Amino acid sequence: MTVRVGILGATGAVGQRLVELLAPHPQFEIAALTASESSADSAYRSVAKWRTGSPMPESVADMMVSPTEPVAVSDDVELLFSALPSSVASTVESAFCEAGYLVSSNSSNERMAEDVPLVIPEVNADHIELLEIQRDERGWDGALVKNPNCSTITFVPTLDALSAFGVERVHVATLQAVSGAGYDGVSSMEIIDNAIPHIGGEESKLESESRKLLGSFDGSSLSLDPVDVGASCNRIPTLDGHLENVWVETTESMTVDDVREAMERYPSLPLNSSPDPLIYVLDQPDRPQPRLDRNRGDGMAISVGGIRESTFGIQYNCLAHNTIRGAAGASVLNGELLLKEGYL
Ligand code: NAP
Repeated sequence: MTVRVGILGATGAVGQRLVELLAPHPQFEIAALTASESSADSAYRSVAKWRTGSPMPESVADMMVSPTEPVAVSDDVELLFSALPSSVASTVESAFCEAGYLVSSNSSNERMAEDVPLVIPEVNADHIELLEIQRDERGWDGALVKNPNCSTITFVPTLDALSAFGVERVHVATLQAVSGAGYDGVSSMEIIDNAIPHIGGEESKLESESRKLLGSFDGSSLSLDPVDVGASCNRIPTLDGHLENVWVETTESMTVDDVREAMERYPSLPLNSSPDPLIYVLDQPDRPQPRLDRNRGDGMAISVGGIRESTFGIQYNCLAHNTIRGAAGASVLNGELLLKEGYL
């Protein structure tokens, strides 16, 4: 039997990816699509400026888009995937949770709240148990789970793969695709023939979210990991796929071969959207590259290359598809975890 699900912000860049991933999903059935007032009460095909590169699934094309409010979504929908701007999500998501819905969200609001699990299932599936505390504290029948920022998702699994060596200090520089800013995010006049060494608020998200993801949950509270992370974020004129240069200093020494082996052995999970292998190591020194490597594992794998010893510990480059592994696919994976753990 499939679970009836809805997508909040279904017309946007991440919302469209959610439609693309959920339409053929064996465990979920799309039963509601919502967007802003200007798109509501229209057929999805007439208001979604479809740009994913694959055809719009016929099963959703004629569905009516609803306004983003609990009364507009049918009671038999159990799980909502949220791809709303955080300014909207900060009030709307809690209203849905209060009304009894489970919400798996991409938006940055509440990611660092103590009672909100911030989850990459392959890294910290056990943090989902924070939902019991959240429900007690907030009195919700529903619940809210978050996935991290798209750039955080790209490098944190690689750090977790190296945890046996004692990861102490990390520097990460990102080269982020334009789709990460949404359709109206960066104008073509700004980005063509250019690189922009600033993405508002992004560095602090990488620095704080990574410590929460790698932190430990003892059943009653979550402790942040003590790792020091310093980030620098850049927007470049690629369409999809965030590339990151990472320097890792550890308490135990590690060789290039140790790193390669740890990455290759890092386990995937028995969830529908978890790719095997999760981390794909490339030998060529000029890989990974966004155009060549972003679709590995149906866009859910993380590619790593250029592993070498450097003045600041081990250095490597990693890459993930920002709207799939970094956003829509990450929320779907969290939905699959909720299902596996009996929350649905
Ligand atoms: P987007 O393309 O701008 O889409 C925003 C969506 O929200 C649209 O469906 C829009 O509907 C809807 N919306 C806007 N204002 C609304 C309102 N007042 N009430 C109800 N719905 C409203 O944004 P995006 O890039 O998909 O990002 C969505 C969220 O995911 C953001 O929080 C973003 O930070 C996060 N995220 C994005 C990425 C990425 O790679 N793009 C990665 C990780 C996380 P209309 O079409 O009707 O305006």
